[in-house]
Amino acid sequence: MRRPWVAGNWKMNGLHQTNDELLKGISSLAAESEIDICVAPPAPYWMQVVEALEGRGIKVLAQTVSEHASGAYTGEWSVGMLQDCGVSGALVGHSERRQLFAETDVVVAAKFAALKQAGLQPVLCVGETLEERQAGETLAVVSRQLLAVLESQGADAFDGAVLAYEPVWAIGTGLTATPEQAQAVHASLRAVVAAFDAVRAEQLRIVYGGSVKAANVAGLFAMADIDGALVGGASLIAQEFLAICQAARQRL
Ligand code: PEP
Repeated sequence: MRRPWVAGNWKMNGLHQTNDELLKGISSLAAESEIDICVAPPAPYWMQVVEALEGRGIKVLAQTVSEHASGAYTGEWSVGMLQDCGVSGALVGHSERRQLFAETDVVVAAKFAALKQAGLQPVLCVGETLEERQAGETLAVVSRQLLAVLESQGADAFDGAVLAYEPVWAIGTGLTATPEQAQAVHASLRAVVAAFDAVRAEQLRIVYGGSVKAANVAGLFAMADIDGALVGGASLIAQEFLAICQAARQRL
């Protein structure tokens, strides 16, 4: 049984005061031990969140990271800075990074490699646009995004990593993939990894993201290859995030 994994991607939301309120709202998650829970606040608030969650077993992730170690990269932050601040890993290849910041598969793979080399957790996000789905290209697109890492770094690079299937058309739109649609893609992604290493594929957590909320999460978590959720908007509402974590625990 793969250990369920749930993360809240706060995106570019929150200020000190609202972060404090949200952290208080999810304070009952302190005793979680059966599932992995993470939050990904904006970089200026890493330290606030790391300190607030100290000793609680909830990990803090960055929403992206530079593929470079240091130097003249204005506005970026490195894996060394994540380590220095107590941040455990980072999302790479989120569709907003791919679409709004022109991150290519090659850049995403380099970020993944930088995290692995530092011993941090990469969360590789893959997903197709609505046009790609309607053109029947879903599996080709997500496989290409996954293979960019697999072919350059091998299946062992996924030891401790998480793969997130996030259909772009479902992110922040209120549209969710049906459990069956998501399961089909998750199973295909697992098969892509299995072609490299069947054991690693079986161990890999593949989580779903795209308008996940308390009301639709149970159906998703009932699917054999959905091992958790990457939650955007709903992770900003304490009761919603608590309910999603509770649903993940019930999956056990
Ligand atoms: C996300 O940003 O990763 C995400 C899934 O967002 P939302 O849950 O708001 O669709």
